[in-house]
Amino acid sequence: MTATPQQAGPAGPPAAQAQAKDPRPRAHPIHVSAGYIFENFDEAQARFAGTVPGFVYTRTGNPTIAAAEQALAALENAQDALLVASGQAAITLALTSAAGQGDHILASSSLYEGSRGLLLENLPRFGIEASFVENPLDPAAWARNIRPNTRAVFLESIPNALGDVPDLEAIAEIAHRHGVPVIVDNTLATPALLRPLDHGADVVVHSTSKALTGHGTVLGGAILSGDSFDWGSGNYPHLSGPSLSLQGGSFTNTAGPTRAFAAYLRGVAAPRLGPTASPYHAHALLQGLETLELRVLRQSESAHQIAAWLERQPGVQHVDHPGLPSHPAHHNAQRLLQHGAGSVFMVTLRGGLDAARAAHDALGTFTRMTHVGDVRSLVLHPASTTHTLRTPAERAAIGVHPGTLRLSIGLESPAALIEDLSTALDAAASATREAAPPTPKPTTTDRRVPVS
Ligand SMILES: *Cc1c(COP(=O)(O)O)cnc(C)c1O
Repeated sequence: MTATPQQAGPAGPPAAQAQAKDPRPRAHPIHVSAGYIFENFDEAQARFAGTVPGFVYTRTGNPTIAAAEQALAALENAQDALLVASGQAAITLALTSAAGQGDHILASSSLYEGSRGLLLENLPRFGIEASFVENPLDPAAWARNIRPNTRAVFLESIPNALGDVPDLEAIAEIAHRHGVPVIVDNTLATPALLRPLDHGADVVVHSTSKALTGHGTVLGGAILSGDSFDWGSGNYPHLSGPSLSLQGGSFTNTAGPTRAFAAYLRGVAAPRLGPTASPYHAHALLQGLETLELRVLRQSESAHQIAAWLERQPGVQHVDHPGLPSHPAHHNAQRLLQHGAGSVFMVTLRGGLDAARAAHDALGTFTRMTHVGDVRSLVLHPASTTHTLRTPAERAAIGVHPGTLRLSIGLESPAALIEDLSTALDAAASATREAAPPTPKPTTTDRRVPVS
């Protein structure tokens, strides 16, 4: 018996076949295509010119990437979001789209090491100079260090990993008085804890590799632009002057003075410099964003509980968690981070390096790995891994001592994590008993060096 077209075959009746062409998936599909079909000559020309909407080539836009950008922009209250390949790419694009040859960037000294290296080693080769505010908790120190050629102020909402939450509003007020925009790395806070654009920031950057995607799978970055900074002052001639991409027009004229930066990022910086996000990674981000608030609030709450417990343990010298009253930035955290102070913090053990090594290797529920914001709890010894390029004094100034471990708290039960840490502290205690004379004194390098 042969099926005629009228009979219901394995694929179902004709109506179902038609429906299968438009299956209306509930989750956003992954659009994996380098380019997009033009119906004819005129459409190709119009899509390139942007006079007819539609995607052209994935380096300039992709439906899955666009969906993730819209979701993230809504979460951060941003007028535009641009997804790129990594957090480092986002920071590089944001900073180089604000500053150029002969310009200066004023950054916090409490900064992710990758950002610090970019400012110290990569950007100077392009004629961009950076300096670092030694006490980022003091708004007056920011005011003192702004120069006539400062084109961006750069800081982290919850610095990785000292947690010295700066007074964002006060710093933004100072920067804006000097006509300088504020770029905030919001990776550790995520919009579940803080929306920097609502507190004076002009641009937000993210490593979406961390809590935004959340599951420790893929890398990504994002740049989110606000709608209040005036880029038309003349200090940003690439935005207010003639642009090749606009056939001699300017971004401040075509997009408007407050949206010129976002338009330049999307139109000139990202497609030319080329760190395009992957549609697969954008899909992972979309999925992560659906549970962002649940994960971040829970992880933040667990971290606070664990930090408070650690602070009471005899083997612990101090804990750098801004949710604890002992932290110098606790007042800023209380004001800005009312839903929690994040899931990443450092703990410094009394027994120095030997104690940290023993505790690190005794942990079982925690994974030894360099990453943060993962659903799994992670541990790292910064002084011997991420922070080897700094001198001991520089490390001490940002709270990284020989006895310091960085913890990122995941979704496991806090009780199980405390039990694991308790075992690790026992291992640290026996290691230091064996390694040192009966009553070991804290070594001088273990003492917290005050930040000037
Ligand atoms: C991880 C991280 C980055 C870099 O992001 P990648 O996605 O690894 O390139 C930047 N800033 C902060 C605060 C980070 O934690």
